[in-house]
Amino acid sequence: MINGNTKLLCLLGSPVEHSFSPIMHNDSLERMNLNAQYMAFNIKTELLSESLKGLKALGFIGANITIPHKVNVMKYLDFIDEKAKMIGAVNTIVNVNDRLFGYNTDVVGFIESFKLRNINLYNKKICVFGAGGAAKAIIVGLLFEKVEHIDIFSRKRFQFNDIFDEISIDLFKDTKLKFLVYDEFDSGYLYDIVINTTPVGMYPNVDELIIDVKSVGYKDTVFYDLIYNPLETKFLKEARKSNRLGINGLDMLILQGIYSLKHWFPNVDVENKIQRDTVMNTLKKNNIIL
Ligand code: NAP
Repeated sequence: MINGNTKLLCLLGSPVEHSFSPIMHNDSLERMNLNAQYMAFNIKTELLSESLKGLKALGFIGANITIPHKVNVMKYLDFIDEKAKMIGAVNTIVNVNDRLFGYNTDVVGFIESFKLRNINLYNKKICVFGAGGAAKAIIVGLLFEKVEHIDIFSRKRFQFNDIFDEISIDLFKDTKLKFLVYDEFDSGYLYDIVINTTPVGMYPNVDELIIDVKSVGYKDTVFYDLIYNPLETKFLKEARKSNRLGINGLDMLILQGIYSLKHWFPNVDVENKIQRDTVMNTLKKNNIIL
């Protein structure tokens, strides 16, 4: 029941019409027995600053930020968490007494998706396809986990400083980071984890494949595709056909949402009430995933 005490949350992005977030979060808010509602607003870039002022004026307790505002939003915030600064993008904001605090929960969502499968990232050899916004978030997460090395493949050759400027030398010293172009990809290299962060293979271009994974890695290599539509991309199909584990982007999406809830409701035991499976069931019930 919406009443005078209802707390407000929202998504600011463009487009937002197909976002899972309102269904996911409103269901979670209900399960947590909280008098709060989550809406989605389609916000033009030139109105982002006004929208944030509006959130404060209307007393919203927080928001999620999505494409195309994740980077731009940072200049309007009063505080930005260390990892979000390193990534250079914010996807969650919390309004504390009219001061806006920014966080990036994509990174914890990504790392937790390995932890829930008991996959240890320490000392692992990682291959990342793509060097866009999502790649930056996952690379920062992998650096914190002290992986052995990360090879990052893209169409254009990047230098470290093209992608990162806030990563402290201390964080970086345990991991070798190499920026390569696709022509330099060596399918014989024994990567432990191969990650697609490009939109290649995403609906409607479901027959596209960033790299033929059949002969890549070894029997225990894990393949991870950040895409969640479709749930099984061609990249993951190939991994399955060669009997290797494939992980899609749905866990990362769900877990980043749970971590946003934790920022908005620090005094609620969110994890006790909302788990990955709870959200997965809600998405199934609403025919969002089959
Ligand atoms: P982005 O910032 O636009 O970056 C996309 C990257 O993919 C860029 O490095 C781009 O390379 C590369 N790329 C695009 N088309 C390509 C092609 N045809 N061949 C090779 N490389 C190509 O986008 P993003 O925010 O990182 O998102 C990337 C993907 O991750 C999307 O599919 C998105 O849905 C998914 N994602 C999932 C989650 C989740 O929670 N599961 C979260 C965030 C993102 P260039 O720079 O050369 O164009």
